[in-house]
Amino acid sequence: MALRSGEQYVESIRKMRPNIYKWGELIKDVTTHPATRLHVQSVKRSYDLSHDPEKAAIYTAKSHLTGETVHRWNSLMQSAEDVMGNSNMKREQYHQTGTCQGATCAGWTGMNVLWDITWQMDRDLGTHYHERVKKYWKYMEDNAIAMAGALTDAKGNRSLRPSQQANKDSNLHVKEIRSDGIVIRGFKCQICGVAAAHEIICVPGSGYGESEKDFCVAAAVPRDVEGLTIVETRRPSDARDEEEGWDAPKAGNITQTFLIFDDVFVPNDRVFMCGEAKYTGRLLMNFTSIYRAAIGACVAGQGDIMIGAAINMARANGLSMRPFQDKLVQMAVNNEITYGLGLGSMMRGRKQPSGLFVPDPLLAHANKTQVAKLPYETKVIAQDISGGIAETGCFPSFKDFQSTEYGKKLLEALTAGADGETRARAARLVEWLTVGGGIPGCMHGGGSPDGARLVVRAMTKWEDYAAEAKRIAGITADLPDPAPAKK
Ligand SMILES: Cc1cc2nc3c(=O)[nH]c(=O)nc-3n(C[C@H](O)[C@H](O)[C@H](O)COP(=O)(O)OP(=O)(O)OC[C@H]3O[C@@H](n4cnc5c(N)ncnc54)[C@H](O)[C@@H]3O)c2cc1C
Repeated sequence: MALRSGEQYVESIRKMRPNIYKWGELIKDVTTHPATRLHVQSVKRSYDLSHDPEKAAIYTAKSHLTGETVHRWNSLMQSAEDVMGNSNMKREQYHQTGTCQGATCAGWTGMNVLWDITWQMDRDLGTHYHERVKKYWKYMEDNAIAMAGALTDAKGNRSLRPSQQANKDSNLHVKEIRSDGIVIRGFKCQICGVAAAHEIICVPGSGYGESEKDFCVAAAVPRDVEGLTIVETRRPSDARDEEEGWDAPKAGNITQTFLIFDDVFVPNDRVFMCGEAKYTGRLLMNFTSIYRAAIGACVAGQGDIMIGAAINMARANGLSMRPFQDKLVQMAVNNEITYGLGLGSMMRGRKQPSGLFVPDPLLAHANKTQVAKLPYETKVIAQDISGGIAETGCFPSFKDFQSTEYGKKLLEALTAGADGETRARAARLVEWLTVGGGIPGCMHGGGSPDGARLVVRAMTKWEDYAAEAKRIAGITADLPDPAPAKK
């Protein structure tokens, strides 16, 4: 059974061992707890839409193993069209819920790049990792698994390597190798979508040298595995998002977590890398190329909803969208730049001998730098159009609306181009999208923009461009780069 219904998905998540905490307390059921329930609901929507005749082409793909229809987030991306399918699903998911779904994203990309790197390792080293990945892939398809992807380690002091850290747990590492598996421990932090996932795909957070072999570990672990404690950390305005009022957004709310691996045993068939430092660089470059090609569609999808939310606010304020047309066009331009740059990187990408398709790294990383910039302008415009009540702190809480003493007066005060409740709902959405729990990780989600700039710097043909410009200018003299001035 490769496809599951939303209800089956929720049921399978409900059955998992509780190991997620928030505000110092154990969340007994992530499908009903206010901190996690909306996230589970938003992933449920993707399972349901996989069965919707109008949306199925977006949410499903063909298995490269069996030819069966599978959820898209369980498929191998083998062509530019497949990575575009990733982008289009993400933009569509944002249209459904206004925000990120996490559990159908980074873990999926993680499995895709593990498909490739294990193929490489088996070919070069005679290991058997690829067979394990294939077996796990079948399990993932058959059980329609939702996966979080854990790359980011706690890292400790950023100027030191993992092996130099005072606390080895700052980075997830192999503590012990046994005949039947490995024991891992350490911290992975800021991981998206864990509460709504069945499994966590762990891969190294950086490319490493031989001195860092212990940290070169990739594995699939069940979210509720013994020895794993998870702390849910979400967003600045989460207390507000969790109020069960009519003004709260009706979908979305992603979750973010810290993962504490305290001697977690991983059986061999779930271990996909253990010490092969040489392969971590390629793994990371493939991951970031796919991820950063598609991330432009995420922020474009949220930008589309910001456009809609801003138009609704203008109207609720009693204004036409016309005076704001130039600003709205700028929002649309921002969205299409990040979406289109991602598509461009796919068109210039290449299929690897393993079967994985990898977008062009230069364009994908250039896209990440824009993803860390343009959505912020889009948010500013949405707030600009909406007025002060859509900014944080300028809007009464749901409980105040319920007051028998002054609740009705608050609604009267909010009445403008629309009744007070309509304007309140419209304002809450803009607040949630621009300063609240609906914001995806534009700046650091998918890695820091400075990391992306390093790739652009490394891949741009500076000397070729200088030589061409010299020729066009008719310069025949030598024009060497002088040695940098001494400080
Ligand atoms: C909303 C959100 C969702 C996320 N989801 C996931 C997820 O699902 N899975 C996952 O694995 N991770 C996830 N992350 C984590 C994300 O990948 C990291 O935040 C990102 O890689 C940056 O790491 P950091 O936060 O530790 O920042 P840092 O590494 O501390 O970076 C801070 C700044 O310092 C710079 N810097 C860092 N090290 C150096 C150095 N040695 N020299 C010079 N400059 C340096 C960086 O470029 C950056 O400007 C998510 C993050 C966010 C915000």
